[in-house]
Amino acid sequence: MHPSPGLDLADVTLTYPDGDGRLTALDRVSLAVPPGTLTAVVGPSGSGKSSLLAVAATLTTPDAGRVSIAGLDAVALRPAERAGLRRSTIGIVFQQPNLLASLTCVEQLQVMAHLAGGSARKARPRALELLDRVGLADRAEHRPHRLSGGQRQRVNIARALMHEPSVLLVDEPTGALDHERGAAIVALLAELTRTSGAATVLVTHDRSHLPHADRAVELIDGRLRTLATA
Ligand code: ADP
Ligand code: MG
Repeated sequence: MHPSPGLDLADVTLTYPDGDGRLTALDRVSLAVPPGTLTAVVGPSGSGKSSLLAVAATLTTPDAGRVSIAGLDAVALRPAERAGLRRSTIGIVFQQPNLLASLTCVEQLQVMAHLAGGSARKARPRALELLDRVGLADRAEHRPHRLSGGQRQRVNIARALMHEPSVLLVDEPTGALDHERGAAIVALLAELTRTSGAATVLVTHDRSHLPHADRAVELIDGRLRTLATA
């Protein structure tokens, strides 16, 4: 077996304690996402979408199966190594942007470099370039309270790209937005996926977003199947 450079889940099963038994959240799920491509995941509430992202993010270890990230076997790593892999290789975008109220947009991004042990000051040019790429060049010095919901989500996405992740995991980023703004965010994610070369997984409840994806899959009761896009 050759490790793939993007994200590669093979036969992943994940269960949670459930009363006296176990609930199967992911049932032998296999999903390979090559670099520079976007895979959309749809499925009803409770079907395992967030669990799939948690496994791909190495935040949750599956009961069985393999998780390969940028060619590394994530399940075999020690917890500290896994945390390092997460910081260096994985970008995560949740539904709620969780920006820091006291920081400007550019500082939200610079702080990522600081957390990774680098210099926030040196990271400023890259932070400004990323804000430009998400359409917020003129908002760099604004604090979150002056931004719209869609603009906050764009800052959130730019922040996740600061460390040039190989794998970008996005959970319902348009949940709090109207349809038009949601569609613009998904189109932006598709474009950033191509330009950054990240292997992107996007969980969405809105099937009208599927044409932006290179591939679409559906989860039902923890089982994954491929959908036709476009
Ligand atoms: P989705 O994101 O598609 O709504 P989830 O991955 O959040 O689905 O949940 C899948 C199933 O696993 C659901 O039945 C949910 O209740 C259950 N579940 C999720 N997280 C936990 C947990 N930490 N402990 C126990 N059950 C959980
Ligand atoms: Mg969810």
